[in-house]
Amino acid sequence: MIDLGSLVPSKHQAAGHDGCLISEDSSSVFAKLTNQQEIDFYLESQSINDDSPIGSVLSDWMPIFYGTLTQGTREKPSNETIVMKTDEVVEGESRNDDDKQYIVLQNLYYTFSKPNILDIKLGSKLTDNTVTPEKEERLRQVSRSTTSGSHGFRICGMKIYDNNIKFPSKLESLSDTFTLTDSYYQFDKFFGRSLNESNIVEAIDLYFNVGNLSYQRKLLTRFLQRLQLIYNTLIDSEVRIISGSLLFIYEADLSKWSHVNDVNYEELDPLVSKNEANDDDSDDDENDENGPLSSLNLIDFAHAKYELKI
Ligand code: ADP
Ligand code: MN
Repeated sequence: MIDLGSLVPSKHQAAGHDGCLISEDSSSVFAKLTNQQEIDFYLESQSINDDSPIGSVLSDWMPIFYGTLTQGTREKPSNETIVMKTDEVVEGESRNDDDKQYIVLQNLYYTFSKPNILDIKLGSKLTDNTVTPEKEERLRQVSRSTTSGSHGFRICGMKIYDNNIKFPSKLESLSDTFTLTDSYYQFDKFFGRSLNESNIVEAIDLYFNVGNLSYQRKLLTRFLQRLQLIYNTLIDSEVRIISGSLLFIYEADLSKWSHVNDVNYEELDPLVSKNEANDDDSDDDENDENGPLSSLNLIDFAHAKYELKI
């Protein structure tokens, strides 16, 4: 059983709604408000558990799903319900959130010392048929006027540690869409929406500007391998994911890279890594030390469903 303990605001978030939480003790658990559709998608993904090679099923690329949390209770997927004191959690949230549930997931950044995080929303179609005509039209307009429409993806947000970053001149005009706080640049959704074919490459380049060419080359190779695996997995999965994201994370604390060389890199930075939350204290330190140097995950399944492909 996972002891969630008390939840505190998430330290790092690239994009999305506010109010995301992490467990205070080891911060290995991440919780966010969501809808039933996302919970159903996680449950169904989890149930597909064959012996395929790692990286070939969707759940390999999703954060580990631990359960849900509603005000006062936390339900495990097994339907076992554990009463938790979560009143503090919903304090400050509007009353309307009372009926909503938190989804409890693996915290994808918890082993990182200085995580650089990039959220890329996939696809040009940003809405399913469940929204009002007004919202549908608004989202169609967002797609038309951004790289969602022209490139099939859009930067939703990113958070970059300031390793003496040099800004490309092409992005300087967007200075009102990012802030520098506590040595982190935070780029909001208007940054991503302002990009077009003339500067999208510079924006992505900025995220991958590790500050060391050798590390950067290794990292880009790794992410490319992961993208190819995810691509193949998505082709093989009977799913329809609207408005889902790729969440890129890598270690921007260069001291964590100092012992990396050509021989040990692949072992130190596995293609797929799942760091189980651990209530066995003895393993906690070890986990912290042994986190990957980077990770790539699919997230945001609020508008995703299993559906036969034609
Ligand atoms: P929303 O519906 O608000 O867009 P997302 O699932 O896209 O929800 O999450 C919003 C943000 O929260 C992401 O951009 C990412 O930075 C962060 N996030 C989401 N899931 C996790 C996770 N499991 N671990 C750590 N951070 C996460
Ligand atoms: Mn999102």
